[in-house]
Amino acid sequence: MRLVNFEGRLGFDVVGRFVDLEQASQGRVSSDPMASFAAWAEIRRLASEQTAGDAGRLIVPERLGPPVPRPSQVFAIGLNYRDHAEEAGLPIPAQPMVFTKFPSCLAGPNTTVPLTSDRVDWEVEQVVVIGRETHRVRAGDAWDFVAGFCVGQDVSDRALQFADKPPQFSLGKSAPCFGPLGPALVSLDEIADRDDMKLRCSIDGESVQDSSTRNLIFSVPDLIAHLSRYCVLRPGDLIFTGTPGGVGSVRNPRRYLKVGETIESEIEGVGRLSNRCVAEP
Ligand code: ZN
Repeated sequence: MRLVNFEGRLGFDVVGRFVDLEQASQGRVSSDPMASFAAWAEIRRLASEQTAGDAGRLIVPERLGPPVPRPSQVFAIGLNYRDHAEEAGLPIPAQPMVFTKFPSCLAGPNTTVPLTSDRVDWEVEQVVVIGRETHRVRAGDAWDFVAGFCVGQDVSDRALQFADKPPQFSLGKSAPCFGPLGPALVSLDEIADRDDMKLRCSIDGESVQDSSTRNLIFSVPDLIAHLSRYCVLRPGDLIFTGTPGGVGSVRNPRRYLKVGETIESEIEGVGRLSNRCVAEP
């Protein structure tokens, strides 16, 4: 199933039409996008009853919000693809390199991205959505705690990120709209091969990143086992699992986002984000 946040309400995307969850459930399930996890079994049952047709309103992409707008925690992983570590000239990490994107950076899949400096960069990422609370889960059981996936864009202001030593990963990646997310929360069963999800990024149609999650250094189960060893993971928590090679700041010559350019970020089977860069207001 594909859950979307349309005009602030949670519902199904049924072939481009919005079926409001509160209405579909006759009021049994809240329309609050953060309430889905507590009602997951009921939502799955309702999803199985939806059939393509002309029920529901046409989805206007610009009015979609992030499918998970207020997670309690947003984890992000640095240097989790070999080619990205190599292009950055950094050693392959021996354990996951963890930082946060503060949740106020989350935005819908088609919002504009304000450029906070002349060194703002792109990073397409698979985002894992936690479905059930867990602490100290083994990697072998970790998928049981995943609700599904979103496409994420880990927009990064390299000027702020690398302003000093040690770097400011979290602050440099958390400006408003630096975390476009969506277009839907796609449940695990929709994904043909959860260990081999193709992801791509292009700028104004020019391909800049093209890889697969099979190239992750630390797999999704490894990341969940690692993070939950130290932190309690809660329903709705997000994990930005890292970006593959092809970011702008380590190119020769370096390349950064310019006002008017559009970032397209896509994961096969999940969907596409389209974000136009604008001058900082
Ligand atoms: Zn990243």
